[in-house]
Amino acid sequence: MVAPLVPWPFPLVAERVDITLFLTSWWLPIILAPVVGSFVGVLILRLPDGAPVVLDRSRCPKCRHVLGARDLIPLVSWIALHRRCRYCGVTVGWFYPGIELAALAIAVWAVTEVSGWLLWATCALGWTLLALAATDVRRMVLPDVLTLPLLLGDSEFL
Ligand SMILES: [Zn+2]
Repeated sequence: MVAPLVPWPFPLVAERVDITLFLTSWWLPIILAPVVGSFVGVLILRLPDGAPVVLDRSRCPKCRHVLGARDLIPLVSWIALHRRCRYCGVTVGWFYPGIELAALAIAVWAVTEVSGWLLWATCALGWTLLALAATDVRRMVLPDVLTLPLLLGDSEFL
């Protein structure tokens, strides 16, 4: 008799762990959505200027203080710091939490529509379109690094 597979975070009680079951679980994109949304916010602000996306630390836009890990927890830091920079006290607007909430809404919607690996593809498409829409609204540009991968994705699903 084979014990039922139990998804992470309960691998210790399962005889074996099916990584596919973990990666295709519905709750994983929802948990990761605010983190992805935070990265999407970085893409929106930095890509039009050609600024480094991954190799540069996040800074307060006013005092330029490098933000630490506790300042960068999606949604939680913004609420815990009462919408202010920890170092200079400048008010942090709705841009970052708005993008993080939008990314979460995309994941929640995707969970209601699809499952399995298609869930990740749907979330990736939604998050990319979120980045493109916000970049277009703010700067009226559509960065190639976001648009060109959509061509590959289109050929995969057709
Ligand atoms: Zn500051």
